[in-house]
Amino acid sequence: MTNQISDRIHRVQEKISGACRRAGRREKDITLIAVTKTWPIEVVAAAVEAGLAEFGENKVQELVAKAPHFPDQNWYMIGHLQRNKARQVVAHAKEFHALDSIRLAQTLNRHAESAGRVLPCFLQVNVSGEASKFGLDPTRIDEILAPLEEFQSVRLAGLMTLASPDVRKVREEFRLLRRIRSRYGHLTGPGLSMGMSGDYEIAIEEGATHVRVGSALFGPRNQFKKT
Ligand SMILES: *Cc1c(COP(=O)(O)O)cnc(C)c1O
Repeated sequence: MTNQISDRIHRVQEKISGACRRAGRREKDITLIAVTKTWPIEVVAAAVEAGLAEFGENKVQELVAKAPHFPDQNWYMIGHLQRNKARQVVAHAKEFHALDSIRLAQTLNRHAESAGRVLPCFLQVNVSGEASKFGLDPTRIDEILAPLEEFQSVRLAGLMTLASPDVRKVREEFRLLRRIRSRYGHLTGPGLSMGMSGDYEIAIEEGATHVRVGSALFGPRNQFKKT
């Protein structure tokens, strides 16, 4: 398992290098978040063995089940979060990449404050306009920014998006996120969390600082799927 995963990691890293070369960017400015959702502890252990250190989960339940086994690695909560689970994110995640409301920010802020830490957050923006996607409408971002400034223990670190499944549209969507950063970046922070297995090279060409890659590293999500 470790061999197969390390081959895949090398392939992904090579593609990241290629995208950086094409875009005139430095590899050290890109964080590869390995998305281990649905994969068991053994797969995470193999990825750690192969050298990965940044891991992402989109469900709190899985974050809580895995992160404590890997205290030397960094964990990112990358999926939609309900307020009643905010405390666990503060306890286990280095960063939260799916902030999409003031009320959630307020709850995270309260828990982060009592935990004595600051939680870096990425604002999730719905760039594809699909109704099925979480995230703020690009035209409503300024509404959330002023109230967010009040929260001392939640710090905006950037913008995050999930592009549409149509690969012909993703480049334009990534560009939209980057344009939003050029307008609001002084408030939202410099990060751009965008790009998944199917489109992380395009995302890097368009300025991604964090790519969230699952199946390209671990294979299709069903063989080891936990029910
Ligand atoms: C699952 C997931 C990913 C990774 O998806 P892959 O296509 O497997 O790379 C990235 N971001 C979020 C928010 C996810 O839920």
